[in-house]
Amino acid sequence: MTRIFFCCLLFITSTLCAGNFYDRLEDADRIRSSDLHGFSLALAEIEKSYNLLNEEEKEYLEYLRAYKLSYSGKYEEGLKIYKSLFKVAKNIDVKIRSAASIINTHANTRNFTSGYEYVEKTNHLLANYTGQYRHNALNVMGIFFNQIGDYESAEQKALLVISSQPDARNLCLAKHIEYESKINRKVFIKDREITESIRKCDESGELVISGMIRTHYAEYLIENNSSTRAIDILQLSSELIEKTNYPRLMAEFYSTLSSAYLVEGNLTLVEKFALKAIKKSGAMGPTKPVVIAYKNLSIAAEKKLNLSESLVYFKKYAEADKAYLDEVKAKQLAIQQAKHDAIEKANQIKLLDKENTLLKTEARLAKEEQENSRLFMAFLMLVILVVVLWAYKNRRMHIQLRKQAETDDLTGVSNRSHFSQVAESALNYHQKTRQPLAFVIFDLDLFKNVNDQYGHQTGDWALKEAVEASRRVCREQDQIGRMGGEEFAIVLPGCSIDKAMQVAEACRQAIASIDTSPSSEQFTLTASFGVADTQVCGYDFDQLYGCADKALYQSKEQGRNRVYRYIQSPSDGPLTSQPV
Ligand code: GH3
Ligand code: MG
Ligand code: MG
Repeated sequence: MTRIFFCCLLFITSTLCAGNFYDRLEDADRIRSSDLHGFSLALAEIEKSYNLLNEEEKEYLEYLRAYKLSYSGKYEEGLKIYKSLFKVAKNIDVKIRSAASIINTHANTRNFTSGYEYVEKTNHLLANYTGQYRHNALNVMGIFFNQIGDYESAEQKALLVISSQPDARNLCLAKHIEYESKINRKVFIKDREITESIRKCDESGELVISGMIRTHYAEYLIENNSSTRAIDILQLSSELIEKTNYPRLMAEFYSTLSSAYLVEGNLTLVEKFALKAIKKSGAMGPTKPVVIAYKNLSIAAEKKLNLSESLVYFKKYAEADKAYLDEVKAKQLAIQQAKHDAIEKANQIKLLDKENTLLKTEARLAKEEQENSRLFMAFLMLVILVVVLWAYKNRRMHIQLRKQAETDDLTGVSNRSHFSQVAESALNYHQKTRQPLAFVIFDLDLFKNVNDQYGHQTGDWALKEAVEASRRVCREQDQIGRMGGEEFAIVLPGCSIDKAMQVAEACRQAIASIDTSPSSEQFTLTASFGVADTQVCGYDFDQLYGCADKALYQSKEQGRNRVYRYIQSPSDGPLTSQPV
C-alpha cells in the first residue's frame, strides 16, 4: 500500500516537474551571462531529469550546454553541438541562435572562412524568420562583417536591426556596429547622434557596448582633428570602462587615449596609457591597440630625444604591425576564398538546377511519349474491337438473312428452293457413296375445307402443328421442306424404302392424332403420303419427286389418310403404287 502511495507521489511530482522544464530552461538562459555559476548549477539540475524532457526541451538544453562549453573556452565542443543543432533542430529559434553562436565562435577563433559559410546559411534562414532572435542574428553578422573589413555589409545588417524596432540591447549593439562601420569608412557622424546612442546604451546597462562606442568615437575625433573633445569623452568613460573589466575594450580604450595625448603633445600621458594598453592586451595576439601603443611609445621617445628607447619601441611596433597586417591579410584571403566558394557553390547549384530542369523535361517527354503510345494502343484496340464487332454483326445479319431466305416463314422448315438444293446435294453424295436415300411427300387432306370452315388462322395453326408432328417422328439428319401450300417433303438419307414407309406411317399417325382443341376448333386433320427411294427411282431429284408424287396421288385416289410407295411394274414398266 505504502509503495503504491509513493509511486503515485513520484509520478505526480515528475509530471508536475515535467511541465516546468521549459520555464526552468528559460530561467537558466536568462542568467547565462550574468551568473555563470548559477547557470551551470541550473543546467546540471535539469540534466538529471533528461529522460523526462520533451524534444523541444532537449534541444533547448543542448543549446545551453553548447553555450556553457563555448563560454568556458571549449570552443570545438561547443561548435559541434551548435552545428548539429543548426542541422537538426526542429525549433527555429534554437536553429537561429545556434547559427549566430557558430558565427560568433568562428570569429573569436579567427576561422573566418567557416564563419562566412554560416553567415551565408543564416542569411537564407533569416529570409523567412521574424522571431525574437532575428535582431541578435543580424547583429552577430554585422559584428562579423566589421571584423573582416566588409564595412558596407556590416552597416547594412545594423540598419536592418535599427529600422525594425529592436529591444534596447539590440539597438545599442546595432548602433555600435553602424558607427564602427562608418568610422572605418571615414563617414561623417553627428556628435549629437552618437552621444544620444551612448546615453541609451548606458541606460539599458550595456556598458561594454557603450564603452566600445565611446572609444571608436574618440578615434574618429582624433582623426578629424578634435583630440581635445576625444580626451574629454575618454576621460569621462574611464571609470565605466574599468568597470567592464573587458581586456579587448580596455586595450583599445587606452591606446586611443594615448593617441589623443600624442596629438596634444602630453608625452608622459602618451607613455602611461600606451603601456596600459599593452598590459591589458595580455596574450591577445597581434591587435590594433598594441600596434598603435608601440607606435605612440616610439614617437614619444623620439620626441623626448631618447633615440635608443624609440628604436626599441619602433622594432616592437614593426613586429606587431607586421603580425597584425599578416593577420589582416590572412583574414582577407580567407574571406576571398569563402566568397569564391560561395559563388562556386551558387554556380554549382545553378548548374544542378539546370540539369534538374533538363532531366525533368526529359522525364516529362518520356512520360508523354508513353502516354501517347498507350493512347494509340487503346485507340488501335478500339478500332479492332469495332471492326470485329462490325464483322460479327455483319456475319450474324448475313446468316439471319440467309436463313430467312432459306426458311418458310410460317412453319420454320426449308422452303422449296432450299429444300431442293439440300436434297440434290444429298442425292449426289449418296450416289457417290452408293447409299440408299428415301423421299417422302405428304399433302394435307381436304385442307381447303379447314380454311373454309374455321378460317385461315386455324388453317395456319394446323399447318404448323402438322410440321411439328412430322419433326417429332423424323431423325436429326432428315430434312423437311415445304413444297408449296399444304404439301411437304422429307429427305431420309441412308434409308431403305421399308424404313421410309415406317417413317411415313408414323408421320401419318402423328398428324391424324393432333388434338385441335388448342385452336379452339374441333376437326380432323389427316394427310396422304407418297414414298419413293433411289433404288427404284434413281438419284435424280425430279425423277424421285415424280415417283413420290405418283404414290401420293395413289393415296389421294384410294381415299386419303394413307401411305403409298412407288413400285415399278415388273412387266412393261408402268409405274404403280402400293399402300403400306
Ligand atoms: P386435297 O385433299 O385434294 O388435297 O384437297 P384440298 O382441299 O387440300 O386441296 P386444294 O388444292 O383444293 O386446296 C388446298 C388449300 O390449301 C387451298 C388453300 O387455301 C390452302 N392453303 C394453301 N396454302 C395455305 C396457307 O399457307 N394457309 C392456309 N390457311 N391455307 C393454305
Ligand atoms: Mg391437300
Ligand atoms: Mg395440295
